[in-house]
Amino acid sequence: MTFGNWDEALHFDPKQVTKIANALKIKDSDITLDPNTESALISGSGAEPYKVTLNDCTCGSFKDRKPCKHMYRLAMKLGLFDGPPAKNPAAEKAFKKEIPNEVDRYRKLYCEGAISAEKFAAIAKALEK
Ligand SMILES: [Zn+2]
Repeated sequence: MTFGNWDEALHFDPKQVTKIANALKIKDSDITLDPNTESALISGSGAEPYKVTLNDCTCGSFKDRKPCKHMYRLAMKLGLFDGPPAKNPAAEKAFKKEIPNEVDRYRKLYCEGAISAEKFAAIAKALEK
């Protein structure tokens, strides 16, 4: 599922996934939606609300020319984007069972000198969290 002129694969980039998660934190009361033009004014940290469309936003985050959290929130509000996938308990359980193997995989890479101690520790910490 995608919106505007964006390639769907972009929404699975880790940086974009963070923006999608942050979009969910934007309150409805901060959004003035115009469904006819598929645009919105969204209040943020600045004095003026951001002008948001499915392809553009006036916030600083959009300087990377990839959808910002405001654009994701607008797309969700218009029913054009689902947001993060729904939780899947069976898949979550299977993943948890694999965590020790995943940590071992990175331990081997660390022992081979392929990754730094810091990278190994950060990955292991993230997996075990
Ligand atoms: Zn924005």
